Amino acid sequence: MATPQPLQLHAPLSGVLMPLDQVPDPVFSSRVIGDGVCIDPTSSTLCAPVAGVVSNVQASGHAITVTGENGLQVLMHIGLDTVNLAGKGFTRLVEEGEQVDVGQSLIEFDADFLALNARSLLTLIVVVSGEPFTWLVAETGVVESGQPLLSLQTDAPTTDESLPGEGEALLSQPITLSNPNGLHARPAAVFAQAAKRFAASVFLHKQHERVNAKSLVAIMTLQTAHRDVVHVSAAGADAEAAIEILSELLISGCGEAGAGPAPMVLNVTETQSSTVLRGVCASAGSAFGQVVQIAEPPLPVTELGATPQVERDDLARGLAEALTQLQQLRDNALGEAQADIFKAHQELLEDPSLLEVAQVLINEGKSAAFAWRAATESTASLFKSLGNALLAERAADLADVGQRVLKRILRVEDRVLALPDGAILIAEQLTPSQTAGLDTRKVLGFATVGGGATSHVAILARAAGLPAICGLPPQVLDLADGTQVLLDADKGELHLAPDLATIEQLQADRQQQQKRQQHELANAALAACTRDGHRIEVTANVASLSETEQALTLGGEGVGLLRSEFLYLDRNHAPSHDEQASTYSAIARALGPARNLVVRTLDVGGDKPLAYVPMAAESNPFLGMRGIRLCLERPQLLREQFRAILASAGLSRLHIMLPMVTQLSELRFARQLLEEEALALGLAELPKLGIMIEVPAAALLADLFAPHVDFFSIGTNDLTQYTLAMDRDHPRLASQADSFHPSVLRLIASTVTAAHAHGKWVGVCGALASETLATPLLLGLGVDELSVSVPLIPAVKAAVREVNRVDCQALAQQVLGLESAEQVREALRVYRAATVDTSLVLEN
Ligand code: PEP
Ligand code: MG
Repeated sequence: MATPQPLQLHAPLSGVLMPLDQVPDPVFSSRVIGDGVCIDPTSSTLCAPVAGVVSNVQASGHAITVTGENGLQVLMHIGLDTVNLAGKGFTRLVEEGEQVDVGQSLIEFDADFLALNARSLLTLIVVVSGEPFTWLVAETGVVESGQPLLSLQTDAPTTDESLPGEGEALLSQPITLSNPNGLHARPAAVFAQAAKRFAASVFLHKQHERVNAKSLVAIMTLQTAHRDVVHVSAAGADAEAAIEILSELLISGCGEAGAGPAPMVLNVTETQSSTVLRGVCASAGSAFGQVVQIAEPPLPVTELGATPQVERDDLARGLAEALTQLQQLRDNALGEAQADIFKAHQELLEDPSLLEVAQVLINEGKSAAFAWRAATESTASLFKSLGNALLAERAADLADVGQRVLKRILRVEDRVLALPDGAILIAEQLTPSQTAGLDTRKVLGFATVGGGATSHVAILARAAGLPAICGLPPQVLDLADGTQVLLDADKGELHLAPDLATIEQLQADRQQQQKRQQHELANAALAACTRDGHRIEVTANVASLSETEQALTLGGEGVGLLRSEFLYLDRNHAPSHDEQASTYSAIARALGPARNLVVRTLDVGGDKPLAYVPMAAESNPFLGMRGIRLCLERPQLLREQFRAILASAGLSRLHIMLPMVTQLSELRFARQLLEEEALALGLAELPKLGIMIEVPAAALLADLFAPHVDFFSIGTNDLTQYTLAMDRDHPRLASQADSFHPSVLRLIASTVTAAHAHGKWVGVCGALASETLATPLLLGLGVDELSVSVPLIPAVKAAVREVNRVDCQALAQQVLGLESAEQVREALRVYRAATVDTSLVLEN
């Protein structure tokens, strides 16, 4: 065994050191590519940190890799998102393959140009070969170019790629992984970090594959999954200790919550208590049919490539073919929702950071398939690990599009599954592509372990009218093909051995539900007028032109909330002014001059990241730079949006609404920007300007806000989470974070009183407005408009027609004095049972 050699890495730039964790780019801060340092530069020439060969320099000149002694590889990346500058501002001073001395100039850059045109000048120096290091200077503070920075522990060169010396290598017992998602980014990082503490060479094995256990990326490429069996092998002086400690670490789940010594696997067919498996509803409805398990066979990916040029060409071909396929899917899509999903997939394929990670690996000698898979999987794992529901759902899209390209690179044809009639598909997770391609003549519904209620898969299932459940326990994957099951998506239940009575009850409920819906639909065009003649406006919450059109056919009287951030959710670049203006104008034109259009300005942050509005990671995003706060921090963004919205003035009754307003100063500043933009456009009349009431501070100061607004719209989703201090996405608090809580209702009541005192109208656009159980209550509290989810327009209008306003007022006063959401719900149920024709109006 050779003795490890220390090697020094010198600062390639002068500047200020910053911990990697604080870099506002997850690809670097999570150390997926490797550990290293970040420098905020004060010099503008990047120099070689070690002597070696330039193993890669990007054509755009923003990134370069130098390979030094013993295979040490250092990647330097100047600025963030600088790949988008396409070479502008960079001068390459060396070529690929050139031998360089430590301190030799490699790239010059125009710091002023970058400061103006790139997201950040922060420069990353990453040890991609994975050697552990110790600092030779303080980890923060100023460094001078050429100053020794790190001492790296490199192994002496070994000519043998296999385990060093058969006799020396030790192998662990087989270990069954307990991590729910296998060794994804976080547990893999913990494991790699631990492995690096040993001088021995350490490998992780899965079946016939083995990878360097000290490399996070390598571990992730093993694609381990829950219950996979792995081994650890080690060779060297401390091999025995390495095997013992690393095996224990794997058994304990590498510090991941929810993992740990493998529990006994439940055999669902044998346990009485497991005849019903529970998940959450992804698409409403129910079906009785037979299980068909969907599992894609693994693709044959080899690690090493031919020449980088060959592999680059393969990747380019795979990407081009996948783009063409996606275009065909878009062209043949069943509706706009489906087409939009494939458009989003096309955008993902053009994502510069994804391509960059793949290119780096190809340049290191990996095959196109391996590099692409590693790039998409590591980014998808990152998305999943960030604890953000929307990003986790984008991970499913990334996995889907990643697989599509992988198949094209490997020239593997898509599998055509022979389905029996009455199939209920079961899968770990269905991809959006699979869902869109389902034969609805044979498939009655599906149930998955992964996925979420707001995922693209759920959207597609709803568009296709297929009942679906997601979030089921993994035991569902053990069900034998052909097992008869009852999928009750409304309740989020999969019944494994349904008796005849259960099946019949379900069918009866469905008939009753259909009868009610037909009745509501037949009357959808009628006004929402109470029995005693009080009219309330029922408008729609929309996120696209097609939803607006659908809302109108279902009796919607306008748009009470256009969630503008959803128009361009999956884009990685901002839409142009013309594009935005034409979207708003098309929606306004569809509504016409007699109907309200309430456009909410970008509500980004919290659970809604927007790719083209990069934001620093926040430990508490719902309490951070969200909504109007973010827009006022970037007034240019808001000005541009105002200009685009104003282009639709006159086509409908235009209203602009600001989200997340907390302070009067925010409203004043936004109004000033709006007035300036309207003036610049020569508009004689300003559109109506209102705010969302979704922060308790705004509700409590409603009397002070009211003189300065034209209207209020209450966002009960956020108002509930902020009033009750319960994250709206928290799975364990879901049943308690209830908008029927009297505290929320009191805030609604006082907001309405304050608005009416100043002659302003109040709407409710949060999900409470779409609950027919809440309709009499909101009427009684004096709300003037209900903006609801499109499919529920007929039901809410019908619920208004069923009641007397005077009764509703008495009911509202009664429930304001109750102490819990459950008491409120119960009071409303009692009221409904006593007053309403329940044969036609049921709780949705
Ligand atoms: C709300 O918070 O109730 C609301 C309508 O806004 P969003 O759900 O988009 O945050
Ligand atoms: Mg909100």
